[in-house]
Amino acid sequence: MKTFAALTSLALCAVTAFAQQNYASVEIKTTHVAGNVYMLEGSGGNIGVSVGPDGVLMVDNEFLPLAAKIEAAVAKLNPGPLKFMLNTHWHGDHTGGNAHFGKKGVIIAHQNARLRLGSAAKPAPPEAMPVVTVNDTASVHFNGEEIRLWHVGPGHTDGDVIIHFTKSGVLHMGDQFVNPRFPFIDFASGGDVQGYIKTVGNVLAQCDDKTKIIPGHGALATKADLKKFHDMLTATSGVVKKAIAAGKSLADIKADPAWAQWKEFGAVAGPTGSSRYIEALYNGLGKK
Ligand SMILES: [Zn+2]
Repeated sequence: MKTFAALTSLALCAVTAFAQQNYASVEIKTTHVAGNVYMLEGSGGNIGVSVGPDGVLMVDNEFLPLAAKIEAAVAKLNPGPLKFMLNTHWHGDHTGGNAHFGKKGVIIAHQNARLRLGSAAKPAPPEAMPVVTVNDTASVHFNGEEIRLWHVGPGHTDGDVIIHFTKSGVLHMGDQFVNPRFPFIDFASGGDVQGYIKTVGNVLAQCDDKTKIIPGHGALATKADLKKFHDMLTATSGVVKKAIAAGKSLADIKADPAWAQWKEFGAVAGPTGSSRYIEALYNGLGKK
């Protein structure tokens, strides 16, 4: 037993050291998106930042060990105080920094995101909990524009909000858009395949050619990128629906050579990224 305990703690140390080393090597890249809005990329979900005379508003915050680096990158844009910290949804790669940024600004999130943060296997500490919750829509009037949050219904999870910087013409879609990747539908957090696709279609209908879109993961995007993503979602869900109707097994669907045409969004069928996506489509569409 002693040996086992020693080995376990050694393994834990190795994991911790690896994680620390990983975060230590992360650099925060800043990109001007449009108007007041910037995008920050480090490790985890993309961050949106509004800077101006009222100070700083952030959307998502990656992981807690990166908080000081993120704060330094934001201070270069604007030395003003952080007033609002918006969360697109509850996942740790988007809210890990809440424990730091929640001490500085007011955290705003959907009510289900707050519920899940508080009831997770490792519940968020009080300072990391959203203070203001959104059920449907809300607006923050900040830095000369209306920043709208709207809940999109079950999709990636059951607590996602999309954020629209109305004057700057920028959307932050959280994980309702990953560019260009197959999305993750978190069924355990109330996710829904058809809801996910419907939301992407609704957002697409509201974009124009000037709209800039910050995806949850991946490169800064335009309406054309979102359309490509939506086309993929529609086509792949069509393939799986048809196959289910024809009585095909999950293994048969995964082996379909048709997946090769969406290689850009993930590895082709097999026990990799696309496998999880195909399973989500199969499980999510099969029950309807
Ligand atoms: Zn997520």
